[in-house]
Amino acid sequence: MPINVTRSSMPSFEEYCEEIKELWDSRWLTNMGVKHRTLQAKLEEYLAVPHVTLYTNGHLALENAIAAMKLPEGGEVITTPFTFVSTTHAISRCGLVPVFCDINDVDYTMDVNKIEALINEKTCAIVPVHVYGNLCDVEAIQEIADKYGLKVIYDAAHAFGVTYKGISAAAFGDASMFSFHATKVFNTIEGGAVCYSDDDLISVLDAQKNFGLSGEECKYIAGNAKMSEFQAAMGICNLRHLPNEILKRKIAVERYRERFSGVDGIRLSAIQENIESNYAYFPVVFDGYKYTRDEVFEKLKAEDIIARKYFYPLTNGFECYEDWDSAGEDKTPVAKHIAYRVLTLPLFADLTIEDVDRICDIILK
Ligand SMILES: *Cc1c(COP(=O)(O)O)cnc(C)c1O
Repeated sequence: MPINVTRSSMPSFEEYCEEIKELWDSRWLTNMGVKHRTLQAKLEEYLAVPHVTLYTNGHLALENAIAAMKLPEGGEVITTPFTFVSTTHAISRCGLVPVFCDINDVDYTMDVNKIEALINEKTCAIVPVHVYGNLCDVEAIQEIADKYGLKVIYDAAHAFGVTYKGISAAAFGDASMFSFHATKVFNTIEGGAVCYSDDDLISVLDAQKNFGLSGEECKYIAGNAKMSEFQAAMGICNLRHLPNEILKRKIAVERYRERFSGVDGIRLSAIQENIESNYAYFPVVFDGYKYTRDEVFEKLKAEDIIARKYFYPLTNGFECYEDWDSAGEDKTPVAKHIAYRVLTLPLFADLTIEDVDRICDIILK
């Protein structure tokens, strides 16, 4: 059996069937039914935030969150190129201009010392990313946002269940987006959420994910981004097992760390202080190692072990952004350095210690 970079968490077949059984009686399959409302309430409790709005995927959650901030058309949004392309697309598709800030080389989140130099009269928001589940410097970012009157919308797709000094990652900024895609720590097959505390946003987000409709009125020009009952039911089941899934990931991560610690030319992401991690990914940076990142990738592939060059390339290096003023990987040298050297190794709850050891043996030999 090949080992993929990830493997989706699922409840037992029986547990899921039990959860969806009543849908055959109600025939209520989508449009904020009982499963949708139940999952929403459970997530508000688990993530410890006043409001959660659910979506059919994380990307549309992020687009809707940005759209709800009513930012000026053509406004500039400071973001990171070291992310999944969804982040950059969400900004652009809202009629805004992504401006790329470099990352730090300790935890690969936005370098907060480089944000202010990018701010001008057109800047209206910051969209940082909690990469690999590493939290951004949320305090420094909020300080800058307050000083210049900017909105902050976090792409927290990797940070489900992470806490900082006991505070939920969902609680920072004006809004945070989570992805519940099949490959994420917590999944609803496809799915996502926006978390926030501003009561006034509830009706805006609820309308925006449903064609802009609010009763018989249509207040916004918007699409369809509703989560279905079958997705919500998967989430209700997976949430029951989440603490145990995270614990199993932790055991695998600790083994990886043990095996790679002190190895020349192998750099691991820093363990962040005051952070309770969700062990979402295990990135390894090959910097001056006896083999390059690409050689390690091929060596693993030959053994049926699929790692991922993640994130690579940077989003400011994609063809669709090449005409944008701030594009170009060379403008974010730290992010470029990491993107060409990083590999995320297989990590999922059911990954065995024997498999971790086998992966490490191949890399170290
Ligand atoms: C997965 C992911 C997304 C997109 O979420 P989907 O649920 O797949 O639409 C956005 N940003 C980041 C950083 C992601 O990892």
